[in-house]
Amino acid sequence: MSIEKLEFQAETKRLLDLVVNSIYTNKEIFLRELISNASDALDKLRIESLTNSELVGDDEPEIFIVPDAATKTITISDNGIGMTREEVISNIGTIAKSGTKDFLDKLREASGSAAQELIGQFGVGFYSAFIVAEEVELLTRKAGTDSAVKWTSDGAGEYSIEDCDKETHGTIIVLHLKKDFCGDGEYNFTDVYEVERLIKKYSDFVRYPIKMNFEVKGKDDEQPTIEIRTVNSMKPLWTRNKSEITREEYDEFFKQQLHEWEAPLEIFHVKAEGTVEYTALLCIPKRAANNLYYSDYEAGLQLYSRHVFIMDKCKDFLPDYLRFVKGLVDSPDLPLNISREILQQSVEVKVIGKALEKNIQKQLGKMLKDDRNKYEDFWREFGKSLKIGVYNSMFDNKLKDSLKDLLLFPTSNDGGKLSTLAEYVGRMPDFQKNIYVAAGKDAAAIEQLPQMELLRERGLEVIYLTDPVDEFAIQILHEYADKHFQSITQENFELDDAESQKVKAEVEEIAKTHEDLLKDVKEAIGGDVKEVRLTSRLKSGAVCLVTGEDGPSLTMEKTFAAMNNPLFKATQILELNPNHAVFKKLESLHEGGKDSQAFKDLCTTLYSLALLIEGVMPNNPADLANKVTELLTK
Ligand code: ADP
Repeated sequence: MSIEKLEFQAETKRLLDLVVNSIYTNKEIFLRELISNASDALDKLRIESLTNSELVGDDEPEIFIVPDAATKTITISDNGIGMTREEVISNIGTIAKSGTKDFLDKLREASGSAAQELIGQFGVGFYSAFIVAEEVELLTRKAGTDSAVKWTSDGAGEYSIEDCDKETHGTIIVLHLKKDFCGDGEYNFTDVYEVERLIKKYSDFVRYPIKMNFEVKGKDDEQPTIEIRTVNSMKPLWTRNKSEITREEYDEFFKQQLHEWEAPLEIFHVKAEGTVEYTALLCIPKRAANNLYYSDYEAGLQLYSRHVFIMDKCKDFLPDYLRFVKGLVDSPDLPLNISREILQQSVEVKVIGKALEKNIQKQLGKMLKDDRNKYEDFWREFGKSLKIGVYNSMFDNKLKDSLKDLLLFPTSNDGGKLSTLAEYVGRMPDFQKNIYVAAGKDAAAIEQLPQMELLRERGLEVIYLTDPVDEFAIQILHEYADKHFQSITQENFELDDAESQKVKAEVEEIAKTHEDLLKDVKEAIGGDVKEVRLTSRLKSGAVCLVTGEDGPSLTMEKTFAAMNNPLFKATQILELNPNHAVFKKLESLHEGGKDSQAFKDLCTTLYSLALLIEGVMPNNPADLANKVTELLTK
């Protein structure tokens, strides 16, 4: 086949553009990325050859690096699985990860250091080659086939692909270095010793030998000879003694082993020798993956048996709510040829998983207690996962109990500062019986709810539920420290202090003499409202909409609708403030007759406004606009 020219997918182009224009401050990491890909390719070949004997060759797996000053190149080769032509096109020409577009959009809006920080959390893998190279050639031959292809690109939107000769399976990547990286600038990636240092720094734990040619000077006037040496120690970090491992070594390990772009937030290194023997080296990354909550996010741990890699992404160790935890488990009690199916049934895996889950919960609890700032950083990235955990603990009280004290919520106290439930309860005044919560799109929206005004005045604190999952989690929790959660926008909400009880009694008296009015308001509004009543929960607000106890809240209704589940409807109750001037107006129009247009208009307008306050679009916004404009011009 002749040379074929192809275009990168649009998102890849944008990403490449960022890489080429070098947003990465750390230029060296390309080597780690390419070595890590080579190591993965060797893993894949080893795993495949377990079931396909044709792939078993006599060459030992290795990665070879050749820096070359004469050609201004650095070449990274492996004798791993290699790629077919189709695989090259789909793996190297496209980015399939969900969230990439969102990420790029966010990046476009950010600038300066914010952009730097954003890009820092987004690994670009193979494309990192373009940080240092003006042209990249990739020659690859898939194991078990006899044809090879050559892929070439300068990273500027296009790549070409053509058939080529390659004697053995595996991949060779040749980077034609930009001039800054051949010795003229700060770096020299054509220098053997500089590259050796980088391999030791970034890729020492790679499980396969990384080899290089070293020139050995001959004695006296003998010619120098070339010696091949393995540069990395290959000793798995997790087999070493915890006390001998530095934080830097751990950090580098996770970057290299798990393609992490930043040092992790928290590390777990566990050795156990009970019924099941294992070592686990886990981490919580500093940031949530862009696709953490998308279906293409692959959770799971790497599995090793006696330090030999068995498989990646084993989902059976940790529950789904810990999907953000990364790392590996090495256990001599698991057989080398274990399949995913057997793994699912394995008692050993269950024992290890339970112990790890407990360990993570415990360490998070400790972090919350000892290092609040760090825990809040964790929470901002992964809190949603723990809340999903609570939601999924419907039939698992033990899980619920172990998670409830790890939850944080913003509250009306101190401008939305995060609070644990225990802290909230600790601040509750004696007369307050329930834990007050309010749902809304964000803190600002909740603060503006008319229902908040009285609470604020009485100095009562409200927990803000701003994430769609919050209300669901709270419903499953049901109570904390024997106190029920009570939404301030639900029908049965009432304040327990003496003053509020007094106002409530007064309002009940007024209601008795206005039964007809309330009935007629409901009739004028029509079908959507279950009840219209007077309220004591408003101060300066004229109306508010609350929801019935039995059904979902309005925010939940919106969440359901967004999930294409429009059947879950909130029961709406419209509440009127009898002490507001508008109520007097309503009374006087009502005296003019319940069928008068003016009365009906006021009723429907008040209802539309109550909907808007809750962030719900009225059925007929144009009609509302007309009525309001009319009022404004009167
Ligand atoms: P990632 O490694 O995170 O998947 P990359 O952009 O680094 O992303 O690589 C994309 C894909 O290209 C890899 O998943 C792999 O399938 C393929 N690939 C990259 N390098 C090699 C290699 N040396 N040998 C075989 N396949 C490779």
